[in-house]
Order: sequence, then structure tokens, then C-alpha cells
Amino acid sequence: RKRPTLDIDQYAAGVREGSRAWIARAITLVESTRADHRALAQRLLVELLPHSGTARRVGISGVPGVGKSTFIDALGTQLTGAGHRVAVLAVDPSSSRTGGSILGDKTRMERLAADPAAFVRPSPTSGTLGGVARATRESIVVMEAAGYDVVLVETVGVGQSETAVANMVDTFLLLTLARTGDQLQGIKKGVLELADLVSVNKADGPHERDAKSAARELSGALRLLQPPDAAWTPPVLTCSAREGTGLDTVWDRVEQHRKLLESTGALAKKRRDQQVDWTWSMVREQLLNRLRDHPGVRDVAPEVEREVRSGTLTATLAAERILQAFGMPDGEL
Ligand code: GDP
Repeated sequence: RKRPTLDIDQYAAGVREGSRAWIARAITLVESTRADHRALAQRLLVELLPHSGTARRVGISGVPGVGKSTFIDALGTQLTGAGHRVAVLAVDPSSSRTGGSILGDKTRMERLAADPAAFVRPSPTSGTLGGVARATRESIVVMEAAGYDVVLVETVGVGQSETAVANMVDTFLLLTLARTGDQLQGIKKGVLELADLVSVNKADGPHERDAKSAARELSGALRLLQPPDAAWTPPVLTCSAREGTGLDTVWDRVEQHRKLLESTGALAKKRRDQQVDWTWSMVREQLLNRLRDHPGVRDVAPEVEREVRSGTLTATLAAERILQAFGMPDGEL
């Protein structure tokens, strides 16, 4: 006879005690897409929720090679040295599509992975970006309930993953590099708007001067993006993850940003808004899954697509046919 209640109490107690084995099990449960696991995971989260919400949640993004893992390893080690407990999570939807992961490999953060005050968790590998993002959001709750007061969520510039991460953190940090010529070219459109903080990494040795001038240029560009009455203008800093320089200033700015959010009440509002956004994004995702898996839709979809491609059916009529097959009444569009 199954006794799920007992299990969940054990999970919750283990997580609250900070047991690494129970934390790992709890995250595995949260990542699972099996229906019975999903139900248990939600019960666990309800138990953990009152003990969460206190950590600094920081998103860290940047193209592959910018130095994210080096940066997180160095910053995380400085933070644990200062008495913090640091959790590192990752959102890397490429790992589910290709089977190969850009992020989340533990060996990328050698010092932190061996640090008893840190917990490094690779990206969940199953499912869509929506599924990966859900698991990561829920893992944040687990890590906070386990007593981690800093949660770093790493993501790579793939698809919509930055937006997903920006929607689950308080402060979003973009790492970039100095490039000759147009500094903005290397930064994906839209990502700059998400950033609360930008740091030009690899500001060391012969690159230091280029990094400083890149930072000045970016700083000007960011000011133009801001409304003149904005309470916060994203600072553009320089750092060297390799040498560990500039990281304390980056963290100071993270703290400053957080204090501003707290003092204005914006933090609580931001987190409430995030909850509502997540709710609808999960509704959207589930609806789309149901639609795609619907037998009637599957029957008509190939033929409808063929007709649209050959020009014998308009996109509007095609959409109507698909929605009808899904069971929606006529004349919706
Ligand atoms: P990620 O793909 O963004 O996680 O980047 P990595 O942290 O794996 O770094 C990519 C490469 O850049 C590695 O060879 C690092 O040693 C190097 N690197 C990272 N940070 C710095 C830095 O601050 N200065 C220099 N010179 N190299 C760095």
C-alpha cells in the first residue's frame, strides 16, 4: 500500500534539515513529468513554500564562452567565504533537444561543486522550455526551504530562455564581452532590456582597456533605453571571472538593486506578478500540449498544412479547421 503522505513529510523534513540527499531527491521529484510525481511534488511545494522566498534570486545570462561558469564558480566561492549558502540552478533547453547540454555540467564549477556551502544542480533535461522553467522555479522553492540564501540561475542565450529566467529572479545579470566595433552587435536584441545589471567579463591583461571602453559604450546605450524617470538605471561594470576582480562590485550592485526593490515594495509586487505570469504560461503550455496530442487535430493537421502550403486554404480557415477538430465551435476567428 502506498503512503505518499509519509513520503512527502520525509522529503520536507529532509529538505528543511539541509540534507543534500533529500534536496537532490526533492528536485528530482519536482523535475519529474509523471502525473503521480507531479501531484506529490505540488504537495511537497505547499509544505516548503512558507519556508521559502527569502533568498537573493539572481539570473545570470550570456553567450557560450562569455565565462558564466568561471564567473559563478568565483562569485559563488566568494559568497560562501562570506558566510552565504549558494545554490546554482540552470535553464538550458538545448539539453533536452539535443541531448547535449551547454550548461549544468558540474565539472564546469569545480570549486563550487566541492564546496559544502554550495549546491550545484544541472539543468533539467526533460521537456520544453516551459517544462524546464517550471522545474527550475519549483527548485528555487526547494533550495530556499533548505536554507540557501543566494540562488543563482544560469542560462544561455538560446530561444526564450533568458525571458523565462528573468521571470523567476529578482535581479538579472547579463555577462558580455568587449568586441571591437559595434558592442551591441554581440548582444541579442531584447536581452539588454531584461538586464538589471551588465558586466563586461574578461577585463584582464590585454583585454582590460577594451573591456572598459565597451562598458562605457554599453552604459550610454542602456541609458537611452531607460525612461528618464526610471528608479534604476542598469549599471555596466567590468570584471574578470578568471582573476576574481570586480566580482565584489557586481555583488554590491546586486544587493543595491535588491534593496531598492525592497524599499519601494517592488520586490513583493514583482514576485506576485511572476506567480500570475507563471500560472498563465502553464495554462498556455498545457492547452497547446492537449491541442497537439488531440486525435482529431492529429487527423486533420497534415492535410490542413498541405493545403495552406499549396495556397488552396487561407491561414485563417486552416486555423478554424484545426480548432474545430479540437472541439471548438464554428466562427471563432
Ligand atoms: P561559459 O560558456 O559562459 O560558461 O564560459 P566559461 O566559464 O566556460 O569560459 C569560457 C572560456 O573563457 C574558458 O576558457 C575560461 O577559462 C575563459 N574565461 C572565463 N572567464 C575569463 C576571464 O575573466 N578572463 C579570461 N581571460 N578568460 C576567461
